[in-house]
Amino acid sequence: MTLTPAAERSELRVVNPATGALNTTVPVFDAEFVAAAALEAQQVFDAGSWSRCPPRERAAVLLRLAELMERDAALLARLDCEDGGKPLTECVDGDVPGAIEAIRWFAEAADKLFGRISPTGPDHLGLVCREPVGVVAAILPWNYPLAMAAWKVGPALAAGNSLLLKPAEATPRSALHLARLAAEAGVPDGVLTVLTGPGPVTGTALARDPRIGALSFTGSTAVGRRILTDAAETNFKRVSLEMGGKSPQVLMADALSFGEELVENMIEAAFLTMGQNCTAGSRVLVHRDIFEEVLARFVNAARALPIGDPADPGTRIGPLINHAARDRIASAVDAARVTGARVYSRELPGALHPYGAYFPPTVLTDVPDGSAVLTEELFGPVVTVQTFTTEAEAIRLANDSEYGLAASVWTRDLDAALRLARGIQAGVVSVNAYSEGDITAPFRGWKQSGFGGAEKSTTAFEQWTRQKTVWIRTR
Ligand code: NAD
Repeated sequence: MTLTPAAERSELRVVNPATGALNTTVPVFDAEFVAAAALEAQQVFDAGSWSRCPPRERAAVLLRLAELMERDAALLARLDCEDGGKPLTECVDGDVPGAIEAIRWFAEAADKLFGRISPTGPDHLGLVCREPVGVVAAILPWNYPLAMAAWKVGPALAAGNSLLLKPAEATPRSALHLARLAAEAGVPDGVLTVLTGPGPVTGTALARDPRIGALSFTGSTAVGRRILTDAAETNFKRVSLEMGGKSPQVLMADALSFGEELVENMIEAAFLTMGQNCTAGSRVLVHRDIFEEVLARFVNAARALPIGDPADPGTRIGPLINHAARDRIASAVDAARVTGARVYSRELPGALHPYGAYFPPTVLTDVPDGSAVLTEELFGPVVTVQTFTTEAEAIRLANDSEYGLAASVWTRDLDAALRLARGIQAGVVSVNAYSEGDITAPFRGWKQSGFGGAEKSTTAFEQWTRQKTVWIRTR
């Protein structure tokens, strides 16, 4: 494979999706740069200032990092809002506090990871030790830039690795600021290095670099597949993939008893970050008996979501990440309409900035089986609604997807809830809520949504550590 030659090194323009204003330019790190960064990371790892320092000391530095993030919370929120077009309110209330919590949680876990002793006979001692991998890499998506960075930086650094972090092209600034704060907190140079650039250049170079021992990726399934191939063709680095989804929201016949709480959760599941969310509940499956009322309430609530400038604290729906995304989503909706789907949407308000790629919250019913809007991850504010009559049919529809990231189930019948939760093929099933759980609960996709280790919880350390058996003869 040909990687970008040095002569083509250039800069990447980072543009505000709401206005087209230039936020910044960042360097493109090509394979040569990536190799140099990996070498430096290896030297720092081998020197041991971070990798072999007592875990309690690493914890103290990372706790300082969490404090500095709190100090700069408003700035971090603004960076993700301006780079990704995310509503500022989501960044302020969700992404930034979540990222701080993740760094703090993994910092506190740093000196609480025990190894094991194997149950051998009296003449031997088998120590099962957990060690950092060494030089590791993480590749991030643009939809939750700081939050995804924190899910990876927290456990990777707490475990003692040297991490090369590649943010998405569109949203590099919060990761760059996080690295500055890490340095201020006392993370040694070369332990956290941010490498900006396009996926096919910088990302490919990371996936193929022979020094990198583990790579954690969050992004689309297509790119995840490419990264796995690159790793297999080079050094078999351990790869963990968190990828796309087409998650169902299953509403049993008694779901309306949850009232407004149900509708609010459905709206959040469907339209958070304009539906550009891996766990978006983009397929509503509703019991036939309550279909009409659910549809009316859901569509009314979707139409009432304030659309506007993402920097305005009242905005719930900002622009999509770029014009290509809007065009792709618009043509998928048009194709569904042509084949007989009903489309419930609204006009966009007139006062929007003409640059922004806005698309209104849209609900589709009567979608023919096999239609692309039912099977493909649209990654936008578009939700399909299908009906079922039996629990078995609900489970069959929920599982009728190549993805298996998340699902939610609404019913007051505990037995039915448990049967559905056990029957649905997804890494996370939430009951009577739209949630992927807090930082204590592992998060990983099934089927084509995930591969390898999980994020969050102590399970996350499986991605960032390796196990060694030390076998001691004691006679
Ligand atoms: P993407 O796959 O296009 O890009 C993700 C990252 O991969 C970016 O940093 C990009 O530069 C890089 N990349 C692109 N091509 C590459 C290559 N050939 N080799 C190495 N790296 C490469 O995804 P996106 O558009 O940034 O994010 C949206 C996708 O992410 C959606 O599919 C969404 O479901 C998924 N996502 C999943 C989770 C999860 O936890 N499962 C969370 C957030 C987003």
